[in-house]
Amino acid sequence: GVIRRMDGMVSEAIKLHSKAKGIDKNSVTALMELGEDYIAAEQFTNAVSVFQEAIGLVGRSLPPHIRIRDILLKTRNFKEAIAAQKRIVSIAPREQAQEERAMLVALTYEEALDKLAEGRFYDARDGFKSVLRNDGQFIPAYLKLAEVYERIGSTKNSIKTLEKGFKATRSILVLKALEMFLSARGEMDKVVDNYKWAKNLESNNEVIRLLLADAYVNVSNFASARAEIDSLNGSLVHTTLYHLIEGKIQHGENNIDQALDSYAKAREKEAASCLSFTCIACGGGSHEFSGRCKACGQWNALRAVLS
Ligand SMILES: [Zn+2]
Repeated sequence: GVIRRMDGMVSEAIKLHSKAKGIDKNSVTALMELGEDYIAAEQFTNAVSVFQEAIGLVGRSLPPHIRIRDILLKTRNFKEAIAAQKRIVSIAPREQAQEERAMLVALTYEEALDKLAEGRFYDARDGFKSVLRNDGQFIPAYLKLAEVYERIGSTKNSIKTLEKGFKATRSILVLKALEMFLSARGEMDKVVDNYKWAKNLESNNEVIRLLLADAYVNVSNFASARAEIDSLNGSLVHTTLYHLIEGKIQHGENNIDQALDSYAKAREKEAASCLSFTCIACGGGSHEFSGRCKACGQWNALRAVLS
């Protein structure tokens, strides 16, 4: 049966494994293989009932529970996938329990994303809050929770969420989101205060100083912007953002030739996207942020990089 399945002859495999099951009703192996056949045939309801039969035989053994969860995940039935994952967490051996709890958090995040897409903002809010209660380092949940608050008209809570998120994760991405919320409200002075606050928390972070310089430039405080970029140790002087800030400062001080020179350098570095992302699980790069790495499937694994 396994050979037939591997050769793509799924209905043959189903016949053989059903036969094996008929010969020995207590064969967990026959049930598990039959379940795999049904998955290969995309007959998910049959697969689930076969794995449930296996659970009836082996009780607290993990594999059939995990297969059922994977099917529910594949069919995006998050509500039941979460219920299945809670059972997995409760029976997982100690060394595996942490990983399974992380999966439970990820599923809760996915379910909340679906609710957000359906416009069920209050359910989505509760989902993202539950994610953060269980894992305060889950960066995408801070970003999405802030978005939900914005959608339900509570910008104050958006800002509070992102401030809390930066304190917990020290993620530049959370800071950038905070900047976006504040500048959309035209509160450019608060953007400066925001980066000053972040700089106090992370005094050795060069990226924050560069972003603070940018905020100063946007309120025409060129002297403070100059002081910030002069304090950089050099690792960011080749970034697009550095050249842009340098250009804006020169421009603000009416040094047009130097400004044009810096803008040209910035354009060379491609001004359009200066933030990109790297996956801490697989090392893959991406120009777009997402809660889950598109290359390896790991949740909460993308980190912002300035280029
Ligand atoms: Zn990855």
